[in-house]
Amino acid sequence: MKKVVKFGGSSLASASQIRKAADIVRADESRLYVVPSAPGKRTASDEKVTDMLYQCYEAASSGKEYQKILERIRARYNGIITELGLDLSLEEEFKALEENFTGKKGRDYAASRGEYLNGIIIAKYLGFTFLDAAEVIFFDEDGKFLSEKTNDVLSARLEKMERVVIPGFYGSNPDGSIRTFSRGGSDITGSIVARAVHADLYENWTDVSGFLVTDPRIVKNPEPIETITYRELRELSYMGASVLHEDAIFPVRKEGIPINIRNTNRPEDPGTMIVESTCRKPRYTITGIAGKKGFCAITIEKAMMNAEVGFGRKVLDVFERYGISFEHIPSGIDTMTIFVHQSEFVDYEQSVIAGIHRAVQPDTVLLESDLALIAVVGRGMKATRGTAGRIFSALAHARVNVRMIDQGSSELNIIIGVDNVDFEKAIQAIYDIFITAEEK
Ligand code: ADP
Ligand code: ASP
Ligand code: MG
Repeated sequence: MKKVVKFGGSSLASASQIRKAADIVRADESRLYVVPSAPGKRTASDEKVTDMLYQCYEAASSGKEYQKILERIRARYNGIITELGLDLSLEEEFKALEENFTGKKGRDYAASRGEYLNGIIIAKYLGFTFLDAAEVIFFDEDGKFLSEKTNDVLSARLEKMERVVIPGFYGSNPDGSIRTFSRGGSDITGSIVARAVHADLYENWTDVSGFLVTDPRIVKNPEPIETITYRELRELSYMGASVLHEDAIFPVRKEGIPINIRNTNRPEDPGTMIVESTCRKPRYTITGIAGKKGFCAITIEKAMMNAEVGFGRKVLDVFERYGISFEHIPSGIDTMTIFVHQSEFVDYEQSVIAGIHRAVQPDTVLLESDLALIAVVGRGMKATRGTAGRIFSALAHARVNVRMIDQGSSELNIIIGVDNVDFEKAIQAIYDIFITAEEK
């Protein structure tokens, strides 16, 4: 058995958290590859090291005062080293870091130091070998992750190594400079390493006991999901469930490696298994609920639009011209609605409307803003009648006005549009009707 274990920022935020993580690694001989994040928040009001590094770089690279924040970063790491009782000094590393900050080595370089330095500490504490991710994870000139080159190089390197710490979040460009994934990207590194070593399991250790049915900041103590498929997870993470980076499933998916989301603070909890497919019946009709705020809906009305060949293409062409991607396109007989991110759309709204008028001569174009989209996801919905009906009645009961409903053709998800202000209330109502009411 081979396992890759990734620990998130809150799991490594302090010496006592690092001790918990190390105990987890040592408790199972097969936990051979460790991917750490940078130290995260110790308390709700604390700062993440990654955020401090961005701030520090911003100041240092523009010639402003940066010493104070650099000292806070240094103190964070030195505090951890002292508390863990390690014979380790990061002074040389900090010297290089400061030179590279004032020498404008880049924001990505700056941010990556969070994981890099934490990786050195954790490798030392565990007695594992440290492998710099810059040597084994590659991007092209345009910042696209090179999955196959990375897999070849990383597999070959790790074939001869056991018990390795590989910092998360970053890799290198063709010229050797550092590039990071988007925020939360250490999850991706863990998945890349799991694929490269043909791991039996990718454990992702965080601060919740698994993927929960919905966001714990919206619903109090939501139930954890026992088993979820990659496809269900993809829908939920795309729609804002932020437990796992949305791109983290792709590498492991290529090898069919399951992911197990676990809680560093409660290692006895089984967490959530994320799998390719499963015969396990979901405990509830739905698997999860996620959502995002800040959408705009553009509704185009034109009598007989369905008979007009190329209508949809011409409309979408206008959005493409302004670089605006769409989220959903529910349509009726004589109407077509396009949901877009409000932030991408506002600057171009009048040009887009004019463009639509010119392209398809609609009867009317209607704009609605401040909408939220909620995805209700579940492989069990297909086999159950009345799911949409139950959602509607729950929302009606909660006095939430449903602005849009769109059932994906896979029957894996139902997307509901509501006003931003009703977002939390709607999620709570859907949770109650499916989870609280079905609880066994
Ligand atoms: P890490 O630092 O370990 O990578 P993250 O902060 O990225 O952890 O992700 C874990 C957090 O995701 C949880 O603390 C929780 O607040 C949030 N979260 C949002 N949606 C969900 C969900 N459906 N299930 C579990 N956690 C969720
Ligand atoms: N430290 C990085 C961030 O805060 C990456 C991660 O934690 O996954 O986004
Ligand atoms: Mg994360």
